[in-house]
Amino acid sequence: MDCIFCKIIVGEIPAEKVYSDEEIIAFKDINPQAPCHILIIPKRHIDGADVLKSDDAELTGKLILAAARIARQFHLESGYRIVTNIGKDGGQTVRHLHFHLLGGEKLKDSF
Ligand code: 5GP
Ligand code: ZN
Repeated sequence: MDCIFCKIIVGEIPAEKVYSDEEIIAFKDINPQAPCHILIIPKRHIDGADVLKSDDAELTGKLILAAARIARQFHLESGYRIVTNIGKDGGQTVRHLHFHLLGGEKLKDSF
């Protein structure tokens, strides 16, 4: 297995987990870009949002719902951002689908 996030899922690489269920885990980003920076990922390896299939629609919805729930847990009521990068030009460095949850300050415009 060559995927860092799959290694985090099985506990081979430690991570500061904030949420876990049968299908999803969420953990703090090792290099936070905001006071609160959490990654929400499926336990099943999917390369990225570009290869999602219609069968993945429910899981994708659950990932967004988990992000919103975690945002409430971390008291980000004043706003936050959910981001997924895709491919080289999109800045995806880990090729395992993940949503960034960013908040805890007034975020700069991203584009
Ligand atoms: P991407 O650049 O693919 O959108 O996001 C990958 C994110 O994973 C980056 O924000 C990076 O800091 C984070 N990351 C990479 N390796 C690790 C790791 O081993 N542990 C944790 N917690 N985050 C990681
Ligand atoms: Zn993976």
